[in-house]
Amino acid sequence: MLSQPLTHHLNTTTRYLNHLKKIGIKNIEDLLGYYPRAYQDLSQNNRISQLQLDKINVFRGTISHLTKRYSKTQKLLISAILTDQSASIEIIWFNQPYVAQFLKNGDEVVLAGKIKFDFGRYTLMNPIYEKVGQTQIHTSRIIPVYPESPPLTSKWIREKIYYLSNYFDHFREFLPDEIISRQKLMKFPLVIKEIHFPSQKETALLARERLAFDELLMIQLVALQKRWQWIKDYKEKHYAMHIDIQKVNEFVKRIPFDLTNAQKKVLREIIEDLKRPYPMLRLLQGDVGSGKTIVAGISLYITTLNGLQGTLMAPTEILAKQHYKTLSQLFNPYKEDICIKYLTGSLKKSEKKEIQAQLIQGKINIIIGTHAIIQDEIQFKNLGLAIIDEQHRFGVKQRDKLKSCGNPNLLNMSATPIPRSLAMTLYGDQDISIIDEMPKGRKKIITKIVPEEKRASAYNWIKKQINQNCQVYVICPLIEASDVLEIKSVISEYQKLQNQIFTEFKVGLLHGKLSSAEKDQIMDEFGQQKIQILVSTSVIEVGIDNSNANIIIIEGAERFGLAQLHQFRGRVGRGEAQSYCFLFPSHSSLENIERLRALETYNSGFLLAEIDLNMRGPGELFGIRQSGMPDLTIANITDTKLIARTRNEAIRLIKENPLLEKYPLLKEKVETFKAKYEISIS
Ligand code: ADP
Ligand code: MG
Repeated sequence: MLSQPLTHHLNTTTRYLNHLKKIGIKNIEDLLGYYPRAYQDLSQNNRISQLQLDKINVFRGTISHLTKRYSKTQKLLISAILTDQSASIEIIWFNQPYVAQFLKNGDEVVLAGKIKFDFGRYTLMNPIYEKVGQTQIHTSRIIPVYPESPPLTSKWIREKIYYLSNYFDHFREFLPDEIISRQKLMKFPLVIKEIHFPSQKETALLARERLAFDELLMIQLVALQKRWQWIKDYKEKHYAMHIDIQKVNEFVKRIPFDLTNAQKKVLREIIEDLKRPYPMLRLLQGDVGSGKTIVAGISLYITTLNGLQGTLMAPTEILAKQHYKTLSQLFNPYKEDICIKYLTGSLKKSEKKEIQAQLIQGKINIIIGTHAIIQDEIQFKNLGLAIIDEQHRFGVKQRDKLKSCGNPNLLNMSATPIPRSLAMTLYGDQDISIIDEMPKGRKKIITKIVPEEKRASAYNWIKKQINQNCQVYVICPLIEASDVLEIKSVISEYQKLQNQIFTEFKVGLLHGKLSSAEKDQIMDEFGQQKIQILVSTSVIEVGIDNSNANIIIIEGAERFGLAQLHQFRGRVGRGEAQSYCFLFPSHSSLENIERLRALETYNSGFLLAEIDLNMRGPGELFGIRQSGMPDLTIANITDTKLIARTRNEAIRLIKENPLLEKYPLLKEKVETFKAKYEISIS
């Protein structure tokens, strides 16, 4: 019933029907699933003698003196007088020709609208009108206010939904009774009635809570099902790894520093996973510079000790190259036994072919590179561990590809500091490990917002620093609209700095449109200190490691989220010297500057992300957009309590009934949700 198309059920034009289709509303169920964004309480009538300014007034009375005229600007004006037992008031409707067709003198009506007070007179402006005796949809109740999508007005939607209200009863409860009673939820179909035409404010809230619960529950169920699939679908050849403690300890001893306690803790968590007979699915979160790479390295070593292959993938060539360098050094003492290779899209065809062959034969133990590694033509002999750095930057399809390599243990690494509540929702399919401690001896990066009038003196100060051998990053503003404009702006900044400001030094330029050979050359020159200042778009935000660079300038800082600025800032502070981060805002609106102050004060990425989340909402939080988060219509992504409640229920459900066969209606709901969600992220 509910899946019937709207064509025969709505008394409307094709234009409106097409528009509904455009916003995803095709059948009765879709329209009844279009929920109000707010309510107006018009349930109490006022007396005209007790009218209130600045508030919606609802009057019941009789119409008289209906007149139609045109204003000087040719606008249609319909005016009338409304009289109740207490008084009379003038009414004016602008440009609403239908009023004259609908209302006659002598009609008893309910009107709802705001009042204007001008020249000593009260006027009721453009009120909603309904005749007494008719069903009251728009007045005399708590009325739903719908998100408008021109030409669809809230009033239009309200009316159409009202006319479909005999379908409310067709909604069936899909949650198990147990959950309903444990969580004290309102039941369907009451939820649908109360969300649209609530009998009281309280019941509207309960209906909303139930819908929010459902929304978050769906996310959790999909995540946990994905996790269950990953763990269940592994190929026979997956087996529990053996941990040779002695060898691992020897390996760790060769590292030129001591692991932090946080690194040791997450390593233990990873090792426990590797020992299990089913694959790991874990997210390793750690602030920039917290030392995730070494954790990856040790895990890869354990993998090779088990005769299995491992891979480490990064989202950019620069970063992949750097990982390759770091790990090659780390494994240098083992180079007789462990073969590490590098693979990206920019290798020559013949080189790729060779690597491809060596991978299948198992001659390569560890392969490092970009997502070129999970292209179709690449196959492994026995992939035991896949590590993905900054996983949210990869397409959502990566996991399917890895699956075809035999569901290896999967470790996602992320420097995107995400508050726990969000992580549970976004990455609900994974276990989470957090490195919450920085290596010893790191100095706090001194961060300052620099107003335009101090720019010249900041440049002078920086020149002195460069003369004492330090190097500088300059990040150019994000221009979302166009790559071309972004590159233009970074080139002009580069020219300005080289030709006018830092003439005595060498300035380098880095952006996404350079070939990988060009990028390599510039990074090499920067690494060897042939370049003192590196101007770049946000491509360098992930991963670059040059411990001699200890100043970073961020232009147009207000265009970035705090968490992302924090990641830029993580490019410096990698060596012994004191590091500095200068934020140059391009607009100096107070609000922008206030937001940036948080960076001057705080050093923890997690804390900054929390602040960003509260100030700008989840949509702006760095990384969320790319991570395939479905749009929540009712639930609030920061509602930690509700997230925990839905998480617990989802765990229970999936544990006893992973495919939800016991609850066919719920299963169907989840399938529909999944289908929608996959469309929205592909
Ligand atoms: P990220 O977590 O951002 O990937 P990296 O793994 O690149 O961080 O580590 C940042 C720097 O800190 C590297 O130069 C690395 O060698 C160094 N490092 C990592 N762990 C430690 C440690 N326990 N003590 C001292 N230095 C460390
Ligand atoms: Mg890293």
